[in-house]
Amino acid sequence: MGFTLPEEYMQLKKMVRKFTEKELFPLENMVIEREASRGFTDLSVLPPEEEIKLMEKTKELGLWGLDVPEEYGGQGLGAMAKIVVSEELRRSIVPFFLPPDSPNLDFMIACCTEEQHEKYLFPYARGEKRSALAMTEPGAGSDAAGIQMRADLKNGKWVLNGSKSFISFGPKADFFIVMAVNDKEKGKKGGFTAFLVDKGHPGMQIVRNVNTIGEMLAYEMVFDDCELDPSQVLGEVGQAFIPLSNRFGVRRLEIAAWCCGYADRLIGLMIEQANLRKTFGKLLADRQAVQWWIADSTTELHATRLMLYNAAWKMDNGLGDLRKETSMLKIYATEMLSKVADRAIQVHGGMGLTKEMPIEYIYRLVRIFRIVEGPTEIHRWLLAREVLKDQKPYDNFGVF
Ligand SMILES: Cc1cc2nc3c(=O)[nH]c(=O)nc-3n(C[C@H](O)[C@H](O)[C@H](O)COP(=O)(O)OP(=O)(O)OC[C@H]3O[C@@H](n4cnc5c(N)ncnc54)[C@H](O)[C@@H]3O)c2cc1C
Repeated sequence: MGFTLPEEYMQLKKMVRKFTEKELFPLENMVIEREASRGFTDLSVLPPEEEIKLMEKTKELGLWGLDVPEEYGGQGLGAMAKIVVSEELRRSIVPFFLPPDSPNLDFMIACCTEEQHEKYLFPYARGEKRSALAMTEPGAGSDAAGIQMRADLKNGKWVLNGSKSFISFGPKADFFIVMAVNDKEKGKKGGFTAFLVDKGHPGMQIVRNVNTIGEMLAYEMVFDDCELDPSQVLGEVGQAFIPLSNRFGVRRLEIAAWCCGYADRLIGLMIEQANLRKTFGKLLADRQAVQWWIADSTTELHATRLMLYNAAWKMDNGLGDLRKETSMLKIYATEMLSKVADRAIQVHGGMGLTKEMPIEYIYRLVRIFRIVEGPTEIHRWLLAREVLKDQKPYDNFGVF
């Protein structure tokens, strides 16, 4: 049994750490300023010209398509590589993400037809196209099975009607994976269908942006008699619920990796401040309260990393259903980062609250992570339900 990352992943980790510190850290003040000043607009906190430069640099470094299987033109390094790299990138608050975005990749690999491979999957895997998932509606978020958007087959065409809310990426996406109900009676057991809808397709409209507590913003969309050829169905008609759930699992691992990256950065800042700042003639590092914040944060980050790497390893090795692991991670990682960010502010006092440092930025951002991709309470419920069904305590190693 080994607990170290293989050498090639360690090399990758070191390379991305260097990239993050050299290329992303210097952009942080600009990101903070743009986020603070954009008001209700949807201005990108990372300017597009900077994003293009970062894209070019990371392409040269060979960081694209890490988890894309080789048959789709990628590097085939699996979830572990993407996790290690995502964690390192998120040591910075600069919202720069390597293409392609993994969750929808997973959905598309599971469901695309040959024709869709050419039109959507290959360009997406190469990083030439971006996608978004349109699932949430004003009346249904956590309870995905409650969506109302209709998909009716009329004269050989699918017709979508309804609205979607909180859709990330919005106008930046080249296409959307849209979830709709084709059979209300069957619901998630045979009545849910996914559609690929191109940006600007007639009948689909992005109506407004919705700004939130932190950097992330989302969009509202309306579908009004949006007519689609049957070739735009992603996967089997009525069978979208399982690939959708699997897709969520991939994002949950990724969110945990982001939480580890941010926590690592914050603990670094806490250590620096504790060793520097004197109050009443003593360093903060000598105060037990501060020591405990650092000790607890270190312990919780370590525990999250172990869970995360173990889950990524299981995913890469096809070791079964990861619903329990991804729920545990979603709960633990996001709560871990909330605590670490809170302690980091406390260690820094007034400075921790300012926009001179990235701490309050992360403090606000993590609040979103406890809601998106399933709020914490839903994950606790799902996890308890699975464990109670097993009628025995969770045992990762299957020994008993
Ligand atoms: C910035 C941002 C980006 C987003 N991006 C996307 C996107 O790209 N695509 C997309 O489809 N959606 C997206 N979402 C939507 C997001 O996934 C939902 O907001 C989330 O799933 C929660 O759904 P809800 O907001 O409808 O909350 P609700 O479902 O109304 O739940 C509200 C609260 O009720 C409690 N609760 C609900 N059910 C239970 C239960 N069974 N047991 C205990 N407590 C419960 C929880 O505390 C929960 O937080 C985004 C949201 C935000 C804020």
